[in-house]
Amino acid sequence: MDLTYSPAQTSFRARARDWLAAHVPAEPLPPPYTAEGVAAHRVWERQLHDAGYAALHWPREHGGGGAGLIEQALFGEEYVRSGAPVRLNRLALGMAGPTVMALGTPEQQQRWLPGMLSCEQLWCQGFSEPDAGSDLAAVRTRGELDGDQLVITGQKVWTSLSAFAQWMFALVRTDPAQQRHRGLTFVMIAMDSPGVELRPIRQLHGEPGFSEVFLTGVRVPLTDVVGGIGDGWAVAMATLGFERGGLGDHARFARDVDDLVELAHRAGVADDPVVRDEVAARFVEVQQFRRHIELVTSRLAAGVPTDAQASITKLYWSEMEARIFETALRILGPLAELTPQASLNLAAPGLHRRYWHARASRIFAGTSEVQRNIIAERVLGLPREPRWTST
Ligand SMILES: Cc1cc2nc3c(=O)[nH]c(=O)nc-3n(C[C@H](O)[C@H](O)[C@H](O)COP(=O)(O)OP(=O)(O)OC[C@H]3O[C@@H](n4cnc5c(N)ncnc54)[C@H](O)[C@@H]3O)c2cc1C
Repeated sequence: MDLTYSPAQTSFRARARDWLAAHVPAEPLPPPYTAEGVAAHRVWERQLHDAGYAALHWPREHGGGGAGLIEQALFGEEYVRSGAPVRLNRLALGMAGPTVMALGTPEQQQRWLPGMLSCEQLWCQGFSEPDAGSDLAAVRTRGELDGDQLVITGQKVWTSLSAFAQWMFALVRTDPAQQRHRGLTFVMIAMDSPGVELRPIRQLHGEPGFSEVFLTGVRVPLTDVVGGIGDGWAVAMATLGFERGGLGDHARFARDVDDLVELAHRAGVADDPVVRDEVAARFVEVQQFRRHIELVTSRLAAGVPTDAQASITKLYWSEMEARIFETALRILGPLAELTPQASLNLAAPGLHRRYWHARASRIFAGTSEVQRNIIAERVLGLPREPRWTST
């Protein structure tokens, strides 16, 4: 980044770079969607934790690094450049943890936060249901009060990492007489509770770990409710604000464009005018994204509100990521259809996986269409789309 850094920030960056150079595993870890991969990533997460790098964005009082936004961005750049493994417990560190810090009781903070940081407890997100995705307020999974417990019955879907998670944060309907945003409750569900059943969904890139989660009479103590009974919508909105509020990962996309250049050479099409145009367009987009991230980071660091920045950032990076991998496939031409094992295959390991994943990026954490609605209404002041109204 081209922001001006203080001497302390420059030396923080140098320390992070040295630590990463000394500790990043020499060989890529097995993918974090298998038991073996999860175990290997847990070891790496433990190392990050011991070095104080597991959660730079968490305050020190909760065991985090207490770093400012600039330091977080610098560490993110160094992390990507070092080739370090993808982070495993993202849903805990980025969503569940900040929610518990902001809205949980001191007892809940003591019980859950340390396991998130050390990665001993993996977390998954139980928001989406078959008829409640973009329209989250339509959740129908029922939570019935029974003494000091909630009895939960219903179905969640598209639950990432659920096959390995110890905990799920979920939104359930505790008052069926109330509709939409009212009568919902935010609750933590231990995945080994009787009545939790997983049905795996195999993803387009073939990897497991993703499931439907069926909940049948699952008993959860009321001490595992975050916020009060009926306050779930406000808690869930706080959680989603943390998810969409990330500053993005421009260094990763810059590396992806470097890979496009290398691929064009390898495929013998680096002098093809159409390929050159496309790769140059991707390069410019990543540079624009980097400027956007710099602007947002400096504004946020100065405490200036950035209206709907999270939606602009999410829409921009997910559409850009999809275009980067569409360009990769166009560079490969008919060879794009070869499997990684084929002798003529030119694609780098993982390229096809990233292509499929980039398609999903347009959907998870709020689809592109929904982000455009938010930008149209909140930034541009265009008329609101028709909304359901309470009767
Ligand atoms: C890889 C991946 C991982 C995921 N992981 C999780 C997870 O861990 N936990 C979890 O809870 N969920 C997860 N999801 C689910 C994700 O949040 C939903 O898929 C997403 O919110 C969209 O909901 P939906 O699939 O029900 O589609 P729908 O909401 O039914 O949308 C279908 C289409 O209609 C469009 N649309 C919907 N509403 C509007 C509107 N108002 N205006 C214009 N267009 C609209 C959408 O953009 C989309 O194109 C994951 C999804 C993916 C792809």
